[in-house]
Amino acid sequence: MLHPVICIDGPAASGKSTVARLVAQDLGYIYVDTGAMYRAFTFLTLEAGHDPTSRPRMKQLLEKVDFQAEIQKKEITLREANRDLAPHTRLPEVNAAVSIVSALPELREYLVNLQRKLRLSGPLVMEGRDIGTVVCSDSPFKYFIDACPTVRAERRRQQGEKDNLATRDRLDSSRASAPLLRAADATLLDSGKNDARALADRIVSEVRARQKPGPTVP
Ligand code: C5P
Repeated sequence: MLHPVICIDGPAASGKSTVARLVAQDLGYIYVDTGAMYRAFTFLTLEAGHDPTSRPRMKQLLEKVDFQAEIQKKEITLREANRDLAPHTRLPEVNAAVSIVSALPELREYLVNLQRKLRLSGPLVMEGRDIGTVVCSDSPFKYFIDACPTVRAERRRQQGEKDNLATRDRLDSSRASAPLLRAADATLLDSGKNDARALADRIVSEVRARQKPGPTVP
């Protein structure tokens, strides 16, 4: 059975992860950060010394890799040969290369298949760049969270992370395969004008209202 998915897309540092986590906690859904998956493969690519633009190298990596995405306590744990990849996903070199690696169609196909299979495990809140447009385009629950570049840059600065948001935005929006795009039926939310709690409350109440069973016919 395919469980419901709440799709939350948006650019880097738009605050979508904070909102997605709150929504998942409130509804008791599994939280899936698909950016972490692209980051994990960027780390593995760099660690192997592969050219991050090389499709044959990525194909090779995908054929050999022992990659697991497991649900633990309603979150996804990413492992490679039993090594936890979480400590490696937010390194500055990963930030710098992830939008290059994530443009490789072989990797996108592999991860989209994996992400779709997670719908068999339980209801999800899945965040990323192409969840509403590609991964779960059939979902009736789609949100696109954005904020102006100044707000997003300040957010990253406060997180103490080195990250070139403008370059990532440009690469993510211009790639041929599943570019960052607001789905036509996604609700646009501004995280510069509303705090994460208010946005999460809005999503949760909309989802609950739409899931309420209709009146019973005697
Ligand atoms: O969400 P986060 O900033 O961690 O994502 C890191 C990168 O992973 C993005 O800049 C993008 O290149 C890639 N990504 C993607 N598709 C997704 C999620 C992330 O291409 N669904």
